[in-house]
Amino acid sequence: DLRNTIQDLKGNIRVYCRIRPPLESEQSKPRYNLNVLDACSIEVEKVELMNSVRKGKPQHGFTFDGIFTPHATQEDVFAEVSTMVQSALDGYNVCIFAYGQTGSGKTYTMEGGCGTEQYGIIPRAFNMIFTCMEDMKRMGWEVTIKASFLEIYNEIIYDLLNSSKDQVTHEIKMCDSKGTDVYVSNLKEEEVKNSHDFIRLMIFAQRNRQTAATLNNERSSRSHSVAQIKISAIHEKRKEKYTSNLNLVDLAGSESGKTTQRMEETKHINRSLSELSKVILSLQTNQSHIPYRNSKLTHLLMPSLGGNSKTLMLVNINQFDECFSETLNSLRFATQVN
Ligand code: ADP
Ligand code: MG
Repeated sequence: DLRNTIQDLKGNIRVYCRIRPPLESEQSKPRYNLNVLDACSIEVEKVELMNSVRKGKPQHGFTFDGIFTPHATQEDVFAEVSTMVQSALDGYNVCIFAYGQTGSGKTYTMEGGCGTEQYGIIPRAFNMIFTCMEDMKRMGWEVTIKASFLEIYNEIIYDLLNSSKDQVTHEIKMCDSKGTDVYVSNLKEEEVKNSHDFIRLMIFAQRNRQTAATLNNERSSRSHSVAQIKISAIHEKRKEKYTSNLNLVDLAGSESGKTTQRMEETKHINRSLSELSKVILSLQTNQSHIPYRNSKLTHLLMPSLGGNSKTLMLVNINQFDECFSETLNSLRFATQVN
């Protein structure tokens, strides 16, 4: 349709910026200047007092496909993101990423808070898929939806739908000799028949992630969390069929770690985030070799990055002074991949 055509003309990567509002308890925290210039561009500037002279660091301008101001609701965000979910329903492989430092609103954007109004992209995407699936069924399609939830921490894959303490190793394997499709060994894939099923699985996965985070303090901010929704559709009469993947990724915090304890982890995270941007950059510049296999995340997402698949990146930032340099890093990352 028209929207997809417009998107194809613009390339297959969309990058949005979301600015998180301060919480009640954060109202008095000092903030840097952030000007939303128009629907697509922002300017940031940090003003400091030096020897009682007010010194502004140079303003930095950034352009996106769209900006979500602190007033944007979860519904506003999904109104933009839903074209991507529609693409997945049309047979495209899709990746939606939340990028940003810890505390910038990635998990809120992807999973959301309590109550349907605060639902994030993951439950909204599923609700939309489920509604469309009912329509497709009426038109003679047989549709199967499967979901899996996993976490990648220090280059190890954990199944969030498996709560048993037994260590099971998960490897990324090829589906065929062409090596274009992959699967994760020993990963639970649950068929989902309705919204209740899905919310139940999502909460189960969240709890599992939190349990792991309690046992290992840093894990929740230092791991990538991936929700994969697989759509398979068959139309017997028309002899048509397709499958597509929708990958919803809450990326590890992009901040650079400073303590030595976290060095090893930071190395892994910064590496896998930089491998992700390398892959996106190679795709953007039509390189012949795309370095998917350099990290678990890009290897896992290989079938959904590149080709005619679609990617949407939400760069989450907050407005606190103390976050200024990390914010600049995130905004620069976004400009790089856009
Ligand atoms: P991250 O996953 O990037 O570490 P979180 O999603 O946990 O960040 O967000 C940090 C805090 O801010 C949480 O308490 C979250 O509920 C809240 N928050 C994030 N974004 C918003 C928003 N747009 N509106 C209201 N609260 C938000
Ligand atoms: Mg989080």
